[in-house]
Amino acid sequence: MEKSSKIEKNLVSEENVLNWNSVQDSFQKAFGTEIYSSWLKNISLLKEFNHYVILGVQTRFFRDWITSRYADKILNELQKHKLSINRIEFKIEGERSSKSISQKPDINKISDIKDGVLNYNRLNPNLSFENFIVGKSNNLAFLSAKKITSELSRYNPLFIYGGVGLGKTHLINAIGLALKDTSNVMFISAERFMYQFIKSIKKNEMVTFKDFFRKANVFIIDDIQFIRGKEGLQEEFFHTFNSLFDKSAQIIISSDRPPNRLDRVQDRIKSRLSGGLVVDIGVPDYDLKQKILKKKITEFQNSFHEYPNLNEEIIDYMAKEQNLNIRELIGIFNRVVAFSKMSKKPLSVNDCKIILKDVHNNNKVISIDKIQNVTSNFFSINLQEMLSQRRSRPLARPRQIAMYLAKKLTTRSLPEIGRKFANRDHTTVIHAVKTIEKLSQDNSLMKKNIDEITSIILSD
Ligand code: ADP
Ligand code: MG
Repeated sequence: MEKSSKIEKNLVSEENVLNWNSVQDSFQKAFGTEIYSSWLKNISLLKEFNHYVILGVQTRFFRDWITSRYADKILNELQKHKLSINRIEFKIEGERSSKSISQKPDINKISDIKDGVLNYNRLNPNLSFENFIVGKSNNLAFLSAKKITSELSRYNPLFIYGGVGLGKTHLINAIGLALKDTSNVMFISAERFMYQFIKSIKKNEMVTFKDFFRKANVFIIDDIQFIRGKEGLQEEFFHTFNSLFDKSAQIIISSDRPPNRLDRVQDRIKSRLSGGLVVDIGVPDYDLKQKILKKKITEFQNSFHEYPNLNEEIIDYMAKEQNLNIRELIGIFNRVVAFSKMSKKPLSVNDCKIILKDVHNNNKVISIDKIQNVTSNFFSINLQEMLSQRRSRPLARPRQIAMYLAKKLTTRSLPEIGRKFANRDHTTVIHAVKTIEKLSQDNSLMKKNIDEITSIILSD
């Protein structure tokens, strides 16, 4: 938090102008009653300065949640009341509710939290090992997952990472299915874990929360990257992790990036996460995509008792499509099949192209800012430095990669991209694009990095 001398210096000289009640009213209007009453109602105005305010929140957790989701909009609202404000700071007023958890939880509360958690604890029966097609890009992850089911605690934790839509959830769900009859399996996404956690804080049920999760002997948590930057949640997760680990429960984790690339996660957590086996799922190659499509055709045949109206050429065309993850591949397959059912004659590759184009266009717009942020984060360098004029390689390469991705993933023109990179000339952008294209052909690490960055950009 702010040093008090600094606070004093910036303190407004003229009268404070914010009327907190009316600010609260506008929060309620802007965010809707539900968000307002769950998150914003208890925010208090602690101090008001010319250019910023200090707002009080109940717990660290609230602070993390509010800053990650609502801070921009809160600032917007505040500016409507006082234009000069350009920053908000949050101060934690004390963990009121979690202090009073020493009272005994009553029975009703326990069943409440149980139901709440159980709702999220359901395994999807379709995402099994049997339905998981193995190829080069996921073979190691698959074998490791299988191994866990026959030899618990052989690798602990098992950490599976990879880009969006590549089968992480499928694989860890499959582990859960295989073990659910013999073990107490808990499967939850990091985001749900957090919901439960907050709910328990609010309802004074932390003891129950802790007990509940610590009962598992197989604990599966999906999309752990969600805890980045959320300190309160990290703390809780770490304790859960440790106590499970101490009693030799098997822990399985999925993430969109490897442990060492989880920025804004405490080092001790990262090191715990890397302490077992870390395996990745890569981008599927042609063979795997073809196998998956063939499998989908068989499924189609089994359910409709007819062969979908697709020829080999189309399957081949879809499997060759470069920028598709498995989820998208299946999505396109379903669309193509739906189209083919409507038309009498078999679809042509050209029809297929049109469908694909539509899918690509539907993908959300990606901003250059985002590309720059993700890239600098990925290489753990400062964004300003990445954009600066310095030419040292550790800065220049990421800068070129970001330019290359800006060209590849957005529709911005070269001069526009140049401008976004501290007003560089478009010829610099061309040079960057060519350099990275060449490097990613010759250098497999470069290609892997670019794939990883791309999938992070596309996933958020
Ligand atoms: P992630 O969690 O990595 O984003 P999912 O596990 O949700 O990806 O997978 C996306 C979709 O692709 C799901 O429908 C899943 O069943 C399917 N899928 C992914 N990998 C495979 C695979 N190897 N074989 C069959 N289906 C797969
Ligand atoms: Mg997933």
